[in-house]
Amino acid sequence: MQSTLKKYFGYDRFRPLQEDVIRHILGKKDCLVLMPTGGGKSLCFQIPALMMEGTAIVVSPLISLMKDQVESLRANGIEAAALNSNASEAENREIAERAYRGEYKLLYVSPERLLAEMETGVLHHSSGTNPTGSLKVSMFAIDEAHCISQWGHDFRPEYTQLGRLKEFFPGVPIAAFTATADKITKEDIVQQLRLEKDETGEPKIFVSSFDRPNLSLDVRRGYSAQDKLRFLLALIARHRNESGIVYCMSRKTTETVAVKLQEEGVRAKAYHAGLSPRERDEVQEEFINDNIDVVCATIAFGMGIDKSNVRYVVHYNLPKSIESYYQ
Ligand code: ADP
Ligand code: MG
Repeated sequence: MQSTLKKYFGYDRFRPLQEDVIRHILGKKDCLVLMPTGGGKSLCFQIPALMMEGTAIVVSPLISLMKDQVESLRANGIEAAALNSNASEAENREIAERAYRGEYKLLYVSPERLLAEMETGVLHHSSGTNPTGSLKVSMFAIDEAHCISQWGHDFRPEYTQLGRLKEFFPGVPIAAFTATADKITKEDIVQQLRLEKDETGEPKIFVSSFDRPNLSLDVRRGYSAQDKLRFLLALIARHRNESGIVYCMSRKTTETVAVKLQEEGVRAKAYHAGLSPRERDEVQEEFINDNIDVVCATIAFGMGIDKSNVRYVVHYNLPKSIESYYQ
């Protein structure tokens, strides 16, 4: 584990819980992992994927996230690819064919795609081997697993079909990951994915500390729209060349705030579910690449983004719950 961490990722030490999770997955057991954003969930499945025989299938809800992870894996010399609707059918076929030849250690798929592949029998069931005997599934990683639950805040109906994985791939371990799940959502994830119980008679759930000593919280009350703008501009000015996110309650507000910031010379853009997938991917990419500094967004934005220079998150409107404030 240690040498794989060093060899492929260049890190000397595991973060809390990473080692325990990896060891558990290597023991071919199911688990649900709750770890805060930035805690390092990806390594918890990427390292077992590298150490186990076969290909790990990673289910991810957003094409932009898959792209991000695949690119950084490849940059580290790891064979990985993504099957999704962004590529043409011909490209996807080629990736699928390479996958059967066992060329990838990690294959990212959208939940819809995975189900379609299962239905057509291409990703074959039983021992996890396809008819030509080449694709051996080492494990399933379900990233952003809260998407499976109606109680979670990013519900994706396609995720609910993932319950069939156990039926199609008995014996292949499933590891689910999320930064956000209250009690009902946790139970829902475990139940829907049919995670198997371990020796204790309960499915294994790893929960890491959610205390983030490097974060501080601050509340300002009674600000008018004008005061808010002045405050925002001052905050942004204190973080020149660094990034921030301004969460707003409505799509309309994300746009008006972004325009106001732009008028003051801030490189800001709006992001919400009303934009086309292409527009959303563009904004996310510009943010990741530091072409813009501020994203004014609804909670549709942010899931899974790994960016090292985000220095502030502003709730322009009061969130509905402490959970969403924290998230
Ligand atoms: P999460 O999915 O939990 O939000 P990520 O998997 O995206 O977090 O990881 C966040 C960042 O932390 C990444 O840049 C990753 O490379 C880094 N990271 C993860 N594990 C370690 C480690 N053991 N040592 C140093 N950096 C790490
Ligand atoms: Mg993540």
